[in-house]
Amino acid sequence: MKFDPAHNIQMLRQFGEFGGVNPSITDSSTFTFLEAGTMIDTFHGEAEGCFLYSRHWNPSSKYLADGLAAMENTESAWVTGSGMAAITTALLQLCNSGDHIITSVTTYGGTFAFLKNWLPKFNIEVSFVNITDIKSVEEAIKPNTKVIYTETITNPLLQVSDLPTLSAIAKKHGITLVVDNTFSPMIVTPANHGADIVIYSLTKFVNGKNDCVAGAICADENFINSISDVNTGTAMLLGPVLDPLRSSSILKNLHTLHIRMKQHSKNAMFLANKFNETGLDFIYPGMSDHPGHQLLKSMMNEEFGFGGMIAIETENSEMANKFMEKMQDDDIGYLAVSLGYFKTLFSNSGKSTSSEVPEEIQKEMGLSEGLVRFSVGLDNNIEAIWVKMEKILKKLSMI
Ligand code: PLP
Repeated sequence: MKFDPAHNIQMLRQFGEFGGVNPSITDSSTFTFLEAGTMIDTFHGEAEGCFLYSRHWNPSSKYLADGLAAMENTESAWVTGSGMAAITTALLQLCNSGDHIITSVTTYGGTFAFLKNWLPKFNIEVSFVNITDIKSVEEAIKPNTKVIYTETITNPLLQVSDLPTLSAIAKKHGITLVVDNTFSPMIVTPANHGADIVIYSLTKFVNGKNDCVAGAICADENFINSISDVNTGTAMLLGPVLDPLRSSSILKNLHTLHIRMKQHSKNAMFLANKFNETGLDFIYPGMSDHPGHQLLKSMMNEEFGFGGMIAIETENSEMANKFMEKMQDDDIGYLAVSLGYFKTLFSNSGKSTSSEVPEEIQKEMGLSEGLVRFSVGLDNNIEAIWVKMEKILKKLSMI
């Protein structure tokens, strides 16, 4: 039977305390025990179903975590106060001083900065590779390699990671494959293709409202128990928890994610076809000439399309700025970082969300100065948006 993440979420039965159709919000930091012995057992991880303290587990956050685990086909999940909290918690749990990580050089700029500038403080070495060049991944493996890290669809170049092949390599060498699926929820289920740990910035498509920052780690029960262990768990000890009020609002948005992803993908595909007709230079994995198109097709769940992210090449950053300002003036969307919103958002990646990547590395990886990354919105009339956009593109002699 085909895997359907939306159906898995729909099948959750999460009643509120008084029969509410939404789970009750538990805004308590601490929990009472009727018997002192149960508290002792809970500290030892031996009391099933008991909540102790909300930095450890909170019922509202657990409902959201259960929803995400259902979507990702993982045994368990844990929600964090940001996507970066999810990334850093997972990596710091997996790696000790002296260990080595192999990562796609193309990742979100904050992830790049953490790997490049922050981890070396703790003697964790990182090799940056072109993740689409499998040979370079294999060649980078060392006896102390603990993690291969990538994004399913990379930010901002929209490369597609070959998860089954990366997983096979990781398994052969006893390495953990960690995959950030922020750009492609519903579309790809990384755990079904061998990812050991799936990371989210829930800030983006999953929540979809740009009203908060949040993240998630989806993995097997062993790993989730290890990060929340009272003695050694990175989540428990560094404390990057998500507030339960926020968890409950994200959970409600999770239930409409499948519909939103279809509309983001439909609108992005419409624009991509128009760009193609006009001969504009752009990147969209939904186009058959995208180098990762077939690979993405082979990993995709049915019906959710190729995602809402498109990148357009403009001449340079000055042109990118003009283009973005005009689009904002004409109400095509907002000149803003982030993605997965109901309005279209656009930013010049090299000068914003990838500005942490030094210019020479940007050049090396093929990130041009003029690249404008689009997160296509949920517009009901995308044709009208294209009419406005075409005028601007012509005015700026881009087509
Ligand atoms: N992963 C990806 C792919 C991202 O694009 C981002 C943010 O832009 C993050 C992680 C970090 O998430 P957050 O901003 O929620 O910390």
